[in-house]
Amino acid sequence: MDGNENPGPVRTSLWRNARLATLREDLGTLGVVESGVVAARGERIVYAGPEAGLTSELARADQIFDCEGRWVTPALIDCHTHIVHGGNRAREFQLRLEGATYEAIARAGGGIASTVEATNALSVDELVAAALPRLDALLAEGVSTVEVKSGYGLNVETELKMLRAARRLETLRPVRIVTSYLAAHATPPGYQGRNGDYIAEVVLPGLAAAHAEGLVDAVDGFCEGIAFSPAEIALVFDKAKSLGLPVKLHAEQLSDLGGAKLAASYGALSADHLEYLDAAGAAAMAKARTVAVLLPGAFYTLREKQLPPVEALRAAGTRMAIATDCNPGTSPLTSLLLTMNMSATLFRLTLEECLAGVTREAARALGVLDETGTIEAGKSADLAIWNIDQPAELIYRVGFNPLCERVFKGERVSR
Ligand SMILES: [Zn+2]
Repeated sequence: MDGNENPGPVRTSLWRNARLATLREDLGTLGVVESGVVAARGERIVYAGPEAGLTSELARADQIFDCEGRWVTPALIDCHTHIVHGGNRAREFQLRLEGATYEAIARAGGGIASTVEATNALSVDELVAAALPRLDALLAEGVSTVEVKSGYGLNVETELKMLRAARRLETLRPVRIVTSYLAAHATPPGYQGRNGDYIAEVVLPGLAAAHAEGLVDAVDGFCEGIAFSPAEIALVFDKAKSLGLPVKLHAEQLSDLGGAKLAASYGALSADHLEYLDAAGAAAMAKARTVAVLLPGAFYTLREKQLPPVEALRAAGTRMAIATDCNPGTSPLTSLLLTMNMSATLFRLTLEECLAGVTREAARALGVLDETGTIEAGKSADLAIWNIDQPAELIYRVGFNPLCERVFKGERVSR
C-alpha cells in the first residue's frame, strides 16, 4: 500500500438471533450461547456472546443479518486431505469388486503408482482444475479451511507443482488453504529398495526448494512398513526442524512402528490414522500436545477391523480431530458431514468430539487455532449457519446437507 490510499471505513457486520455453538471450552459443552450474536469488524470477530452484552455502538452495524434462531457453528475445517491429484481409481474399485486382488492391480500399474503417473502428467492449471470440484464439495458443507498435501509427485518438480496448485486454490475460492509437504509418502519406481537415496536425493532437496518458494506450512510423512521407517522419517523431520517448519505424520495406520511417539518427540502438530496406536503412544502425544487426527473414510474404504484406540486417547487427554483424508485410493471422500457421521457410527465419538474434531481441534492440528476454529473475539469471522433444530443433526444424518449459509472472513459466501 503506498500510504496515499484511503482504504475507507471498515464495515461492521452483525449476525443476530442466533443459537451459537462457539466451541469455546470455557463455555461448557459445545460452548453454547442461546440468544447469541456475532459482531465482526471487517474480517475479525469483535464480539460473540449473548445479545444482552452487545454495545450500542456494535448494535448499529453497517449490515445486520437475522439468523432467525438458527444454529451457528465455526466454519468447518478439513485438516487432512490429498485433494490435489491427477486421475482417480474408480476402475480399480470396479475391478476389485469383480475379484481382482491388490497384487494383480498393482502388477497392472494400478494402486498409488497410477495416481503418481496421472499427477505427474498434469500441469499446475490442470491440477487446480481437477481439485476444484473436490474443494467445492467440501465448501458446500460449510468448510472454510482445508489442509492440502503433496505426495503424488515423488519427484521435486511435481511435488512443487502440487503445492503451487494448492496455493492457487486459495485465490480462486473463499477458503483458507494450509499446505503439507509429503514427498515421504511412497517410494517411486526408480528408487524401490533405496528409501535412503530417495530421501537424500528427492525428499530433502525438494523440501528446501518448496520452502524457499513459500509453499510449505508443515512437513508430513507416511511411517509404515510399506512406506518409511521411523529412522527415515526422522531425517525428514530433522530437515523440517532446521527450516523452522512444524511436522505431522501418517502413523500407526496398518501396524505399530512407534511413529506417533516419534512425531510427539518432535512436538508434531498431529499424528494421523492411529488405528494401531498403543496407550504409551497416546500418552506421548498428549504430553507433546500432538493432536490425534482420526480418518474414518480410510477405515471404511479399506473395511478395516482395527478401531483407533479412542478410549486410550480420551484417558490420556489427547486432543482428537477428524478429517476426510480425501484421496483417490483409500478415501475418495469429500464430505466432512459424512466424516462426522462415520466418526460417531464407526468410532463412537460423541457429538462434542465430532463437532470439535472438525472445528477447534482441527484448527489446533493445523496450528491455526489463534485464527479460526472457535467463535470468539479476535478470530476470523468464519461461520457456518445451519438449518437444524439441534446440533446432533449434524452427525446423525447420512448424506444430507443442512447448510444455510457460510461466512468466510466476515463475508457471506455462496459456497
Ligand atoms: Zn493421508
